[in-house]
Amino acid sequence: MREDRLALTHVGEHQSDYLNAVTPPVFLNSLHIFEDMDGYLNNGKTGAYVYGRVANPTVHILEEKVAALEQGCTAVAFASGMAATSAAILAVCKAGSHIICMRDVYGPVKGILNGYFIPKMNMTVSYWDGRDLGELEGLICDETDMILLESPATFVFCAVDIRGVAKIAKEHGIRTYIDNTYCTPIYQKPLTMGIDIVMHTMSKYIGGHSDIIGGILAVKDEELGNVLKGNIRAWFGGIIGPMEAWLAIRGLRTLNLRVERHQQTAMAVAEFLESHPKVTRVFYSGLASHPQAELIGTQQTGHTGLLSFIVKGTAEQAKNLVDSLKVFEIGCSWGGFESLALCPLYAASGEELDFLGLGEEGRSMIRIHCGLEGADVLIEDLKQAFERI
Ligand SMILES: *Cc1c(COP(=O)(O)O)cnc(C)c1O
Repeated sequence: MREDRLALTHVGEHQSDYLNAVTPPVFLNSLHIFEDMDGYLNNGKTGAYVYGRVANPTVHILEEKVAALEQGCTAVAFASGMAATSAAILAVCKAGSHIICMRDVYGPVKGILNGYFIPKMNMTVSYWDGRDLGELEGLICDETDMILLESPATFVFCAVDIRGVAKIAKEHGIRTYIDNTYCTPIYQKPLTMGIDIVMHTMSKYIGGHSDIIGGILAVKDEELGNVLKGNIRAWFGGIIGPMEAWLAIRGLRTLNLRVERHQQTAMAVAEFLESHPKVTRVFYSGLASHPQAELIGTQQTGHTGLLSFIVKGTAEQAKNLVDSLKVFEIGCSWGGFESLALCPLYAASGEELDFLGLGEEGRSMIRIHCGLEGADVLIEDLKQAFERI
């Protein structure tokens, strides 16, 4: 999209403010100083920068870009994706709140709900499998303040009906949050579908080079944006560092080009895997065989590089396959230039496997991130590894 390309390249940048340097500097300053006391006292009115825990000019450029990409009014950047998620929950919920959380959300989000918000903040959480909107409505109670979503979500790339959930939530005055890291703002814009808070882990595609940890929230409600930026982030102190913000800006320059290539490669790899005799199932949001392909087509305009498949064989054989890969590195993240592989559920509990609707065969799952090495290289690597099991 034209607007996206301009956001990635130009939005938020004011070269004349920094000696016409074509790229913005890394503002590595902890504070800003004033000509006189009146200047300091009036900073609220003039919008002047004061102190680096509250706002930083490099961070602000990043925020302007992501807000534009998500078609929101405000974006707020944090030191990690988890810091951003925690801030979203802290901004919306209170002690005693009820949260509805999609079953497949990023594991540590369930960790912080179960390990902190439930025992320490007296909250309650209902997990929802993300499919049946009637079931979602049945989970809503007077205390429900927030719905946490991720779409599509690893490991089985289940998609949630974003517009459907947003509509129900609005009818009940409930705030909605979605982790949009997989699609990036290039391929999915949840704020335009009624979602209140969008989260991106910039450690993945936005950073894109496996060299930063960072997170960002985008909203279209100015008041909520002010709470997130002026209260929650300033009070809890989770702002991203200027160097990381600068690297995220640099990552954004090529985000559209990279995700296009990740998609192209992942599609070719997924098709190769789907036709392989040693594979029983492939989970990729771009495949026509995805059980929710129709829904996905109404809310995503593309797919990125992450997918998973189940090896016809034991968990041990799947593990051996991963160990035999030469180009794919073994690692848990994704979104960077490099291809990665992992057996994410090798040691999962039976309960977790059932939770994901997989059963024992889930232990033989391999998740791969298709990097930028090219489909030919990755398919060749997978071929030789399959021959070893
Ligand atoms: C990595 C990841 C996160 C967490 O991000 P951090 O920056 O590591 O805190 C959240 N959601 C998804 C989908 C992720 O892959």
